[in-house]
Amino acid sequence: MARSAAIPATLPPPYTSTGTRTFSLRTNIKTFTSTTELFIGPKPTRFLLHTSLLTSHSPYFRAALTGPFLESTSQSIKLPDISVEVFELCVGWLYTGDIHPIPFKYGKPAYYTLLNLYIVADRLCFEGLRNRIVDIMADLADSTNSVLTPSDTRILYEQISENAPIRKLVLDLFAFKKTDKLLQTHSDKWHAGFLRDLCVLLKRPCTQALDRHDLQMWIPEQWHATRACDICRAILQPRYGAVGCEGCYNAWCVRCVKEGFAMAGWEDGRGTREGEGLGKGLGQRKWESCKPWRGSRCKVYHEHKETDGCAEVMMGL
Ligand SMILES: [Zn+2]
Ligand SMILES: [Zn+2]
Ligand SMILES: [Zn+2]
Repeated sequence: MARSAAIPATLPPPYTSTGTRTFSLRTNIKTFTSTTELFIGPKPTRFLLHTSLLTSHSPYFRAALTGPFLESTSQSIKLPDISVEVFELCVGWLYTGDIHPIPFKYGKPAYYTLLNLYIVADRLCFEGLRNRIVDIMADLADSTNSVLTPSDTRILYEQISENAPIRKLVLDLFAFKKTDKLLQTHSDKWHAGFLRDLCVLLKRPCTQALDRHDLQMWIPEQWHATRACDICRAILQPRYGAVGCEGCYNAWCVRCVKEGFAMAGWEDGRGTREGEGLGKGLGQRKWESCKPWRGSRCKVYHEHKETDGCAEVMMGL
């Protein structure tokens, strides 16, 4: 079967979702006609893609396909060590701006597919795709209440670069979701470097632990309504300015918020008691956690060197 037949013959409208630079396809008639031939996998599968899509999304392809000495109308690139299945997801993203289908296996999220796609996105310099993978992984972890498996952590630590933001996301998923039992009882071995980094994250203050909250000024009116700063444990005095979160009813002193660091914590709200809230009536509400991959996703996990920054909205809410 010719895989390239799956690629649409006509271009869909330019991708305008957040995180990817929009570009005009009308400015240059060559945009419609210039294509690049790619041979993917050990048994080469041919893909014929619009050159402008490749060059607008990737400095790698810009360097490879636009240069004074290169023939601009017919190009061919061989990438024998990239899997066709993973590359198809890349192509889907190039043409639609999204990843289809979201990878599942036996009803569970196939995080390893997303990791393998991230490896390819890194290698081919698709920054927008890397950000999209981060978004999908974060949403998937919440919607299915799952995290990566031990073998996924080995892919993450053995094949993905140390500074990749996706490492930070995975560590935060483990640090802020309730994963203690899973870590303790899983029969397979977690990657040692992953366990070390997770341990450090849980012990050391980080900015995303505070950034994830919806911070608002909060003034306890009376002693019975007050509580301790979640970081330094100082009592927040009535009628003095403090900071609270509408989402989880934690509170902080102004000084700790200014310093901007807090410890990673678990989303089950351990240590909080029924009826304990920021104010009258609020304590009745069920504990809701604030998650860094909601409150500070763009700031912490996205890269925007190539692509435009996302509007700082609470994504996915
Ligand atoms: Zn909160
Ligand atoms: Zn404090
Ligand atoms: Zn962003």
